[in-house]
Amino acid sequence: MPAQDELRRRRLQQAVRQIVRLRELGPKTPRWGRAWKRLLWRYQGVLKEEKQMIRAQEFKTGRSFVGRLPEDGDITAALTSFCREKEIHTGWITAIGTVRWAVLGFFDQETQAYQRIPIEQEMEIVSCQGNVSLKGGDPFVHLHAILSDKEGKAYAGHLFESEVFVGEFWLQELQGPVLQRKEDPQTGLSLWEILESRLDPSAEPGLPGLSGKEF
Ligand code: ZN
Repeated sequence: MPAQDELRRRRLQQAVRQIVRLRELGPKTPRWGRAWKRLLWRYQGVLKEEKQMIRAQEFKTGRSFVGRLPEDGDITAALTSFCREKEIHTGWITAIGTVRWAVLGFFDQETQAYQRIPIEQEMEIVSCQGNVSLKGGDPFVHLHAILSDKEGKAYAGHLFESEVFVGEFWLQELQGPVLQRKEDPQTGLSLWEILESRLDPSAEPGLPGLSGKEF
């Protein structure tokens, strides 16, 4: 989509968002209601489009690393320091192995807080995967895992802590724009800041934030 069209579309979306916000704050007179309905009808196409809009940036595959997770180490901490050492800022990670214990997490969407799930027993890492991006300028590893016990029963969730018995990993570096995590007040999570979404209505096409190619 040409940059100008994209800019126009974004400005329209921002106008709609502003109207929604104003409506929530302002008095709901019948006249307001009718005006709102007209606007809604006029912009419903844009709203629909906004709901389905994927925000993404393009990356190229960089270096690929295959190795062993450190025995007695913590998966997340070990991979974080590996990324720091190899200067990996963005990438995708997958791992298998066994752990002595682990602490998984479940994010409660209502309270916007993590519930910690400690599992004090040895388990197989059936699947562990996640990514690396930057948070505060430092590599940040985000992992999820499915672990299984001696009966083959599975535990799964966000991976907080673990003690590795043995393990193997594959890390695929991705090269491209800076992928940074930022606190998101709406969800209470640290989410990726996709440059496209930061569009300033006063910005001119071609400035950083439009294509992400400047990095
Ligand atoms: Zn998670």
